[in-house]
Amino acid sequence: MIIQRVVLNSRPGKNGVPVAENFRLEQSTIADTVQAGQVRVKTLYLSVDPYMRCRMNEDTGSDYLQPWQLSEVADGGGIGVVEASKHQNLAKGDFVTSFTWPWQTAAILDGDLLQKLAPQLVDGRLSYFLGAAGITGLTALLGVREKGHVAAGANQTMVVSGAAGACGSLAGQIGRLEGCSRVVGIAGTDEKCSILVQEMGFDAAINYKKGDVAKQLRELCPGGVDVYFDNVGGDISDTVISQMNQNSHIILCGQISQYNKDVPYPPPLPPETEKIQKERNITRERFLVLNYMDKQEASVLQLCQWIQEGKLKVRETVVEGLANIGAAFQSMMNGGNIGKQIVLVSK
Ligand code: NAP
Repeated sequence: MIIQRVVLNSRPGKNGVPVAENFRLEQSTIADTVQAGQVRVKTLYLSVDPYMRCRMNEDTGSDYLQPWQLSEVADGGGIGVVEASKHQNLAKGDFVTSFTWPWQTAAILDGDLLQKLAPQLVDGRLSYFLGAAGITGLTALLGVREKGHVAAGANQTMVVSGAAGACGSLAGQIGRLEGCSRVVGIAGTDEKCSILVQEMGFDAAINYKKGDVAKQLRELCPGGVDVYFDNVGGDISDTVISQMNQNSHIILCGQISQYNKDVPYPPPLPPETEKIQKERNITRERFLVLNYMDKQEASVLQLCQWIQEGKLKVRETVVEGLANIGAAFQSMMNGGNIGKQIVLVSK
C-alpha cells in the first residue's frame, strides 16, 4: 500500500533555528496485510510540540528522548482510526492514540502500544486528545497539582509564562480552578493577551515584547508571586522569580526560550536569580509529566469534565495536510497561534 510520510531531512544544529525544510515529504509503502497483534491505522491528527526540537539534535540531551534519524520517519503524538485489526482488543473503526505515532498517512502498528479513545468524552472533538484532554492538559493539571502547592482560600497569585501556548493557556485556567485568587499571563502578542483575559479568565496578561515586563508585573501582582508556571525560562523567568514571595513555588514545565541553544536541561539560573531562589526558599523541581502516568486516567476524566462544563476553554490551531507539518512545527517554535497546534492528516 502506498503512503506519504515525513522524514527528518536535515538537523538545524544545536544552536540553530529549525525550519520547515528540516523535514521532507516522501512516498513510501507499508505491507498490505497485518500480522497477529498488529493493526493498520489511518492517521487523522498529529501533534507538533516544543520537545521535538531536542529530537532534531543528534544528542537530545535527555535520557527519555530518542533523536530522530536523518531520512527516517519522524514520530510523536498522533491519533488515528483502525482500518484493519488482528489485535484482540481493537476493532475496525476504533479511534486510537500513541505518543510515538509515525508521521505518515497510514501505518501498521503494534496494537499493544496503542490506547483506545472514547470520543464521547470530548463530544467527538478527537484532536482534543492530543491537547487539552491529552498530554498537554495532563502537563498543565499535574504540573499545578504536583509542583504548584496551590491551596484554595490561600489567596495565591499565579503567573504563567508562555501563557497563550497549549500548556500555558490551560495551566492558568487550572490554577484558578484549583484555587488561585489571581492569575496573570505573559504572552507575545496583544491579541494573545486579550484572548487570555477575555476568553480564558486570566485577570491580566502582559505582552513581553512590549514595555517593561518587571514594572507591569509589579503593578499586576501587588502581593508578589506565589506560584510560577514556567514554560519559557530565560529573561522572562528571571524577572518573574525576582518578584516571587518567600516559600513560593516554580512549576518547572519547560524552557522553550532555551531550546535552540546548546545548554543543559534545566538550564541553570543566572547567579543573581539563583541567589534570590535560595534566599527566598523558592522550590524549582524538575517536572516531567511522563513520571505521573499512574494519574493519567483520573486526570483525563477531570479535564474532560471541565471541558464539557465549559470551565476549561480550549483553543487549537489546525493546519491541514501532512505536507505542512514542517511548517506547522516551525510556526509553533516561533510562537504560533494561541493554544495547541495540530496537523489534520485525513478526515
Ligand atoms: P506551545 O503551544 O508552542 O507554547 C509555547 C509558548 O511559548 C508559545 O505560545 C510562545 O508564544 C511562547 N514562546 C515561544 N518562544 C518563546 C520565547 N523565546 N520566549 C518567550 N515565550 C516564547 O508549547 P506547549 O506545548 O504549550 O509547551 C510549553 C512548554 O511546556 C514547553 O517548554 C514544553 O517543552 C513544555 N512541556 C513540558 C512537559 C513536561 O512534562 N514538563 C510536557 C509538555 C510540554 P509567544 O512567544 O507568542 O508568547
